[in-house]
Amino acid sequence: MDSSVTREPAPLRVDLHAHTRFSPDAAMSPRELVDRALDAGVDRIAVTDHGEIEGALEARAYAPAHVIVGEEIRCEGKTELIGLFLTERIPQGLPIEGTVERIRAQGGLVYAPHPYAYARRPRWHAERSLAVADIVEVFNSRAFYPPWNRRALEAARARSLVAAASTDSHFGHELGRAYTEVPAFDGAAGLLRALARGTPVGIATASPFIHVASISLKAARLLVAPGRYAPDRERPPTTIEPLGAD
Ligand SMILES: [Zn+2]
Repeated sequence: MDSSVTREPAPLRVDLHAHTRFSPDAAMSPRELVDRALDAGVDRIAVTDHGEIEGALEARAYAPAHVIVGEEIRCEGKTELIGLFLTERIPQGLPIEGTVERIRAQGGLVYAPHPYAYARRPRWHAERSLAVADIVEVFNSRAFYPPWNRRALEAARARSLVAAASTDSHFGHELGRAYTEVPAFDGAAGLLRALARGTPVGIATASPFIHVASISLKAARLLVAPGRYAPDRERPPTTIEPLGAD
């Protein structure tokens, strides 16, 4: 038998949650993020800066075949969602329904990051994000308290939602600590189908001190360049047209 006829393409390792220095608390340039991800054996990396897609667009221009453009969005009430396969930045602080509507209008997927982390976040954030999610982050390498990831996995199973493991990398050494192994895929719908057949792999979680490093970086940058990472209310008005009546 000719094995080349039946052989499936090699599986891919995808990390759906990582930050560049376009996030105030992360260190890598978009190119460095891509290079470090590939070095760590990650084939597809979603660049998901806080409230920003500029770094993701830069990363995709550098390595179009390897990058998914995303954004980690803080919705009204501080519930966090990630939009994947975005073409335009989505403002922060919108009602969760309006945020989801904008992600879907761009053909994107809604990813619920670390739904049960951290201790300071009330549990209802998880309910809100899981109710609208296409994909649940069942392992986040920065969620250092094991029950947070365990609860996310249980919730994904209970709701029959598609699961992914991601690093939430803010620094280069974090890449490769988690990924989901999936069959080869193309585009948003293809990723969703691939994840349904995929295997989330969590290699390691960070020490809690990784958050101290991020917070220190953010504080230093705010001192040096307070306007560079201005919150939405201090930005120029967004060019995105409002959708519907939200
Ligand atoms: Zn993140």
